[in-house]
Amino acid sequence: MDESIPGGECLCGKVKFSFPKADESAHCHCRFCQRAHGAAFVTWVVVAEAQFSFEAGEDHVRWFTSSQQSKRGFCPDCGSTMFFKSALCPGEIHVARANLTVDADLPVQCHCFIEQKAPWLTVNDDLKQLTGDSPELDKYKKIRP
Ligand SMILES: [Zn+2]
Ligand SMILES: [Zn+2]
Repeated sequence: MDESIPGGECLCGKVKFSFPKADESAHCHCRFCQRAHGAAFVTWVVVAEAQFSFEAGEDHVRWFTSSQQSKRGFCPDCGSTMFFKSALCPGEIHVARANLTVDADLPVQCHCFIEQKAPWLTVNDDLKQLTGDSPELDKYKKIRP
């Protein structure tokens, strides 16, 4: 792997990927992310699919259809959940930032779906907090379980 561009891997290392450029980064507190990752929230980076490439294990990735429009990619050997793709954001792949071994050089911009935040999590940073009703999240309003 080229260590000079952002990229990462699953826990067992069978799936490796990289991307020269990411466009956005956000913490997502939605219930889909919580359950898929077994975590309070997921920090995503948004990458144009044209910028994204698998370095290893592309055929190994399994895609779970998590809603009518969306799917989540994971490694079936180690269980790492790493990717999100949706018809609601065509041309994008969202990558779990915690799986990066070379971090993307951009700040986290906001919290999304904060109204679904785990009750046992305290958020005390100054980032913008978007709810499902925020216009910035309009495209995701059409997600149907
Ligand atoms: Zn793995
Ligand atoms: Zn989410």
